[in-house]
Amino acid sequence: MARLELDSVTKRFGEGDGSVLAVDDVDVDIADGEFLVLVGPSGCGKSTTLRMVAGLESITDGEIRLDGDRMNEQGPAERDIAMVFQSYALYPHMTVRQNMRFGLEESTDLSDEEMDGRVDETAELLDITELLDRKPGALSGGQRQRVALGRAIVREPKAFLMDEPLSNLDAKLRSQMRTELQQLQADLDTTTVYVTHDQTEAMTMGDRIAILDAGELQQVATPLEAYHRPANQFVAGFIGEPSMNFIDCATEDATLVDGGFRYPLGDEVGEAVADAADVTLGIRPEDLSVDASADASGGDAAGDHAFDATVTVVEPMGDENVVHLSLADGPELVATVNGLRRIESGTDVIVSIPENAIHVFDGDSGDALHNRSLDDAELDDARV
Ligand code: ATP
Repeated sequence: MARLELDSVTKRFGEGDGSVLAVDDVDVDIADGEFLVLVGPSGCGKSTTLRMVAGLESITDGEIRLDGDRMNEQGPAERDIAMVFQSYALYPHMTVRQNMRFGLEESTDLSDEEMDGRVDETAELLDITELLDRKPGALSGGQRQRVALGRAIVREPKAFLMDEPLSNLDAKLRSQMRTELQQLQADLDTTTVYVTHDQTEAMTMGDRIAILDAGELQQVATPLEAYHRPANQFVAGFIGEPSMNFIDCATEDATLVDGGFRYPLGDEVGEAVADAADVTLGIRPEDLSVDASADASGGDAAGDHAFDATVTVVEPMGDENVVHLSLADGPELVATVNGLRRIESGTDVIVSIPENAIHVFDGDSGDALHNRSLDDAELDDARV
């Protein structure tokens, strides 16, 4: 068990003009026993960060500490950290038992009996006892992934590093393994850094998530904090499916304006955005309400935050309908509504954008100027 600290960690590949700044001054303090998910789009520097922690990649600048001890100069074998890869990296000519024992033989001076004891115990934990004498070629993808996990667990390391360990599995198995891994990590209480580009894994698995973009850390927060109080537009757009809607606007006298689209702001939001000339209005699909059209109810969209719109496409997902909307005044939005609600493309509707659910981002920096109303108690309640 260990606290893992990344202190201004930077990685530059190559030198001069052609060099690549893959990881830029990243600070994360991961508590003993914490499950931290490192998430971001392809090429953002997730794997490079993990490989620096593992000792597989040198660190250009900054420091990595495990339980307060500087790791920078230590090789992978000296770090007491176990890594699980997407590719499993099992030895094909060895049985499952030999694969799981191999790391122990390399890194410990346990007796044969002690090593077998640990392998048996871990195999039982992962429900792979009956596979111990098989070779990897005779295993399914899910079984191989369990063996790869077993090989890490058997070493009883101070920390686990996992690089997209579930991405080779089919959707159903992936969601099953997701739950199992969470349970396992909670039982073992071992500090874990888990890399993924899948925001569902990030939302569901981590105690906290660290979101990276282009080598830069965007935010470290609990999943719900990142969802409801994104630090910037990148985080807001990356976390959540379907993505948050964005409308680029100018600010005119506490009103957000995009062509014919006008969204007046109350005092609180108005003050928060007063200094920015260009902003982006953000609203999550589930926070939009889609109501019977003005034509059906005999009148125009009423109220400052209600807009005439036409349904362009409906995607029935079963539990919900994803409804694509075109506002009469220009912007295109995506809303989610109950899956049992009948809603046809081509229908005229009224879309309401409630002010207590909007986010506003600075047009230049992308930083959040205002996040939706939600007090801390609501975030805590939501987590129960
Ligand atoms: P993915 O999800 O696609 O694996 P990632 O977030 O893990 O992406 P990294 O593999 O860490 O991203 O790569 C970060 C950046 O560093 C990318 O621009 C990549 O091209 C670059 N990079 C990675 N390894 C090297 C290398 N050995 N030499 C030069 N550039 C590299």
